Amino acid sequence: MPILGRRAAAITAALAMSVTTGAMANPALAHPRQADSTEKTPTAEGYGGAVSTVDPDASAAAIEVLRKGGNAVDAAVAAAATLGVTEPYSAGIGGGGYFVYYDAESGEVSTIDGRETAPAAMPADAFIDFSTGKPYNFTPELVTSGVSVGVPGTAATWERALKRWGNFSLEEALEPAIEVAEDGFEVDATFQLQTDENKARFSAFPSTSELYLPGGEAPAVGSVLKNPDLAETYRLLAEDGVDAFYNGPLAEEIAATVQEPPKTATTALPVPKGFMTTEDLADYRVLDQDPTHVNYRGYDVYGIAPSSSGGTTVGEALNILEPFDLPDLVKGNGIAGNQAAVLHHYLEASALAFADRAKYVGDPAFVDVPTGELLDPVFGKERACGIDPLKAAPKPVAAGDVEDYDGTCGLDPAAAGDDKDTENINTTNLTVSDKWGNIVEYTLTIEQTGGSGIVVPGRGFILNNELTDFSTVYSETDPNRIQPGKRPRSSMSPTIVLKDGDPFLALGSPGGSTIITTVLQTLVNRIDLGMSIEDALAAPRASQRNTLNVTAEQAFIDSPSGKVLSAQYGHTFAAAGKAGTSAAEIGAATAIEFSRDGQSVTAVAEPVRRGGGSAMVVKPSR
Ligand code: GLU
Repeated sequence: MPILGRRAAAITAALAMSVTTGAMANPALAHPRQADSTEKTPTAEGYGGAVSTVDPDASAAAIEVLRKGGNAVDAAVAAAATLGVTEPYSAGIGGGGYFVYYDAESGEVSTIDGRETAPAAMPADAFIDFSTGKPYNFTPELVTSGVSVGVPGTAATWERALKRWGNFSLEEALEPAIEVAEDGFEVDATFQLQTDENKARFSAFPSTSELYLPGGEAPAVGSVLKNPDLAETYRLLAEDGVDAFYNGPLAEEIAATVQEPPKTATTALPVPKGFMTTEDLADYRVLDQDPTHVNYRGYDVYGIAPSSSGGTTVGEALNILEPFDLPDLVKGNGIAGNQAAVLHHYLEASALAFADRAKYVGDPAFVDVPTGELLDPVFGKERACGIDPLKAAPKPVAAGDVEDYDGTCGLDPAAAGDDKDTENINTTNLTVSDKWGNIVEYTLTIEQTGGSGIVVPGRGFILNNELTDFSTVYSETDPNRIQPGKRPRSSMSPTIVLKDGDPFLALGSPGGSTIITTVLQTLVNRIDLGMSIEDALAAPRASQRNTLNVTAEQAFIDSPSGKVLSAQYGHTFAAAGKAGTSAAEIGAATAIEFSRDGQSVTAVAEPVRRGGGSAMVVKPSR
């Protein structure tokens, strides 16, 4: 069963509509949020700027800003701030993320690393329970804790992005979100399900249950949820700048909440305390970063450099695929067989790249990350030797040797990296373009659905539990070991693709480490399998992260390709999660594709996952 989202009937109606005639894209509607944001459509085609997010209020906020003369950066911040209201379990100012920007004038891609950092006082053994001398369990101890809260980077990311590239002030960009927080938004089935799945955690903190469990239960579908505290917090940032977040009373309250999580006396949850201080908040800085880059079959693919493993792992996997003539495999013998052949290569390339991710990638400010080698086409070519075109390799596969490669087969790979995967599956992603041709691809998160579960009392936002992205077992040789001040390794993969110097596609997704495979599979679907971007994004997903079984959506396992992959190629599948739970789905992607003449754009969101996303354009026709 797909998870039914906000206004399921509207989705069905939207699916039945022509993509260009949806009410949502009607320019005559002066105030999009009031007039049409209650509907969702997964595809919108048109001109003058576009947006895709998981949520119609957030997409409407972006369109409102674009119509008022804001650019893609202004609109992205407006949409992200609105997601902090309507998708508070996925993202918000209590978390972090990665922002990728394509500047139409210079043709350059730039990025901001707004990842959370470990507090300066966080010890290497922070995940050991002193009272027992044993490691905390991942659940419930680590996920619902102060110890896993990283110093948030989202507010600083918004400020930096606006300062570098925006037309709007933070005050202007936050306006639509403040309005949604004050007036409220309509609760949908996805929101209710996510609240329900977090009920025990949220009940442990009065500040959280007062906001998200009115009357002790998840809010009813169709009810209106307001967040006046968050409106007030946003207003504070609008008036005083994000300094108000990183210094002053708010910083003191955040640090106090982390050090002494405000739990009820009766909760059975242990909720370990954290180490964050006001100095950690005052010291937090976002990083201006160069993007990663690979060329794949003539497409220039730009992504996020470490501290995320997104850009290196997507990029390396593409380099591994490059020597195989996948588009040629598609021609000829019956579509299921050929799709399966391509998808077999996709799964194997992903496993190889994940082996290298585990061995080599962490925060480059603390460990040597061989980004150049991992993205070297010669290294990719040599790693491609690990793919048998007819048979799945036994997993896990070993990592490659970045110090000894020449692009030929025959050298022994290094020992297998430890790839224990504890990343959760939430987060949110948005894609925005504007009439000038600028593009933003932005993934932001508070880690797992509901983050740490702790709302900062009186402030209306949940703190992240991002530090669970550090390896939970400490090892001196692990690039992702805990270190004070360090950014935990991420998988977020906001990606912008150019062709002959012009925009072709921007895409990204939530989903923990499946983010990487969702972005990779969507690129393979689009570029190698020749699907439309709508089909490429909607297609059933499978994720091979160098594990024995391929994690897959049931629809993938049951598909003709899934059957061939298992019977002929020897892949074994494990369903992503129980049907009807959030975990049954992989990702919730958004994308915008740009026409070759540079005129029209196609914004695409999920038709079904997370209840369906929301794509909108400024003008459906010229
Ligand atoms: N913490 C994850 C990361 O940084 C994202 C969480 C998710 O997508 O669920 O990769």
